[in-house]
Amino acid sequence: MFTEVLMPSEDAIERAAALIRQGQLVAFPTETVYGLGANALDPDGIRRIYAAKERPADNPLIAHISEVSQLRPLIACEPGALAERMIQAFWPGPLTMIFPRAACVPACLSAGLDTVSVRLPAHPVARALISAAGVPIAAPSANRSGRPSPTAARHVFEDMNGRIPLILDGGECEVGLESTVVDMTGDAPRILRPGGITAEMI
Ligand code: AMP
Ligand code: MG
Repeated sequence: MFTEVLMPSEDAIERAAALIRQGQLVAFPTETVYGLGANALDPDGIRRIYAAKERPADNPLIAHISEVSQLRPLIACEPGALAERMIQAFWPGPLTMIFPRAACVPACLSAGLDTVSVRLPAHPVARALISAAGVPIAAPSANRSGRPSPTAARHVFEDMNGRIPLILDGGECEVGLESTVVDMTGDAPRILRPGGITAEMI
């Protein structure tokens, strides 16, 4: 497979969105690191992510959305007052929240768990791509498993050349740190992975 690298023009984002809708993979910038994206509702797309990254099948993926209104259909219950406050405070941004998974979300997105993790990224290219695709986008970091998370398109190319059809080059990522993952399924939020948003900020 030939891997194209394109500046994120409107045309390029449309092409990327079409690939995502077809179950293919596209790497794109977020404010944390470059993500390797697929339609989060398409088991074939999800399987391609695990294959391209050589990611262990027990490591769940995060669904990325571009509007808060896309959260509710992915989760099995109302987000709750605390999650609403966290959304107000930290979205768009490097905060991932875990909720009970809705039936429409493939189990393989969450490595078989009955939860789903969701983030609304701040990066304009990420949001434009998710909006254009019209579906939530599953996107782990765009590196092969065990390699450093990429903060520039050339790092993605080194790892993914020949494995994916398209990389959107949006320059260097600002945060370079992964998103903070918070489990919202219990009585109190629980930080599962530290990241760009700290416990003090929460
Ligand atoms: P990343 O590799 O940046 O895509 O982040 C994915 C990480 O988020 C996983 O390795 C888990 O640590 C965490 N994660 C994602 N989804 C879930 C979930 N449903 N339950 C628990 N942890 C999750
Ligand atoms: Mg990663």
